[in-house]
Amino acid sequence: MALIVHKYGGTSMGSTDRIRNVAKRVAKWARAGHQMVVVPSAMSGETNRLLGLAKELSPSTHSASLARELDMIASTGEQVSVGLLAIALQAEGVEAVSYTGWQVPVATDSSYTKARIESIDDKRIRADLAAGKVVVITGFQGVDEDMNITTLGRGGSDTSAVAIAAAVKADECLIYTDVDGVYTTDPRIVPEARRLHTISFEEMLEMASLGSKILQIRSVEFAGKYRVPLRVLSSFTPWDIDINEEAKSGTLISFEEDENMEQAVVSGIAFNRDEAKVTLLGVPDKPGIAFQILGPVAEANIDVDVIIQNVSQDGKTDFSFTVHRNDYQRAIELLEKTVGPAVQAAKVMGDAKICKVSIVGIGMRSHVGVASKMFRSLSEEGINIQMISTSEIKTSVVIDEKYMELAVRALHKAFELDQEVSA
Ligand code: ADP
Ligand code: ASP
Ligand code: MG
Repeated sequence: MALIVHKYGGTSMGSTDRIRNVAKRVAKWARAGHQMVVVPSAMSGETNRLLGLAKELSPSTHSASLARELDMIASTGEQVSVGLLAIALQAEGVEAVSYTGWQVPVATDSSYTKARIESIDDKRIRADLAAGKVVVITGFQGVDEDMNITTLGRGGSDTSAVAIAAAVKADECLIYTDVDGVYTTDPRIVPEARRLHTISFEEMLEMASLGSKILQIRSVEFAGKYRVPLRVLSSFTPWDIDINEEAKSGTLISFEEDENMEQAVVSGIAFNRDEAKVTLLGVPDKPGIAFQILGPVAEANIDVDVIIQNVSQDGKTDFSFTVHRNDYQRAIELLEKTVGPAVQAAKVMGDAKICKVSIVGIGMRSHVGVASKMFRSLSEEGINIQMISTSEIKTSVVIDEKYMELAVRALHKAFELDQEVSA
């Protein structure tokens, strides 16, 4: 008997029929003798619908006081899901109880719309499991120390599931979704993308941080920190398939580089449309300038990603960086009103129609020429590279958004990711 956490995404919870299917699958695991905790997302489209209602009343929902209310609203999607799933489980003859984040509680900081989990009390969960119940806990939401409801950022149910798995010391956390595992890139963009049987934790961390929506980055961080065995698999297989077969399906996030691991130089391609670029033209090229620009940006709680400073001419340089698109307007305002004048910039410019495309692979550590192959393949498609950023196991480029799909397909082909690599 094991303690297992299942997470079901929005599409998997998308209708009462699908919720019934989820309940049948969970009931199968419970009847096989496992203690089960289930973390569902809101039904598909529901979080967008709820946030859309808020937008109808106030188009600019970026202020801190509105963010609190957004979390109040968005968290209800998951509350409906847990109640429905607990009812569906009971209809299957399985004892089940649902909880919201604050009832557990899942304690977070107060960064509304992108809160971080600080701790999870497992007492209530353990008591219910000991009493033979399936425990159904909302994804995506938590509570801060003043009892305000918070949410963990889009895609945050993954993080809830892994954090809960860590808190209860689960034997495994299974992330059920609408694809049957982690692919070399998003199969919606490249139909030839190939499912990976295993992916190293480091590569998964990079893929997620570079925009691959299959797992929220923080869920992978939690898995790494607490060594939670993690697998991504399909919720669309028949619910009554053999449980042992199901337990081995999908993609395992592996913490060890064993000899069975695929040995590709590049394992996957990630892309991110959620960024925007801002540029300060003609700033003095002198010590401290990066700090003078990025200090106030950090103080405004705006995350900065790729940074580029050009060579100087006549003591002046151009300074560009990317931010999340949600922070774009705030970043531009900050640069125009305060930072730009303070550093005597000649001009502030912005471009929200960019994207970042990245190749990822631990094999890049030991191979040279990988980045240049990337650049050649993009140049052959006539795609201009605006910014480049590299680390040990990834190379990212910022390009015009309209070339994103073309770039991803070209790179997938250039690195032969559609072909099985021999172990
Ligand atoms: P859920 O609602 O189950 O959390 P998401 O929509 O958040 O599902 O994530 C699953 C989606 O992630 C897939 O439908 C797929 O389009 C997308 N995706 C992006 N990159 C990848 C990848 N490398 N492998 C598999 N799916 C990916
Ligand atoms: N329902 C939330 C969202 O749509 C959380 C999740 O699905 O993981 O982002
Ligand atoms: Mg998701």
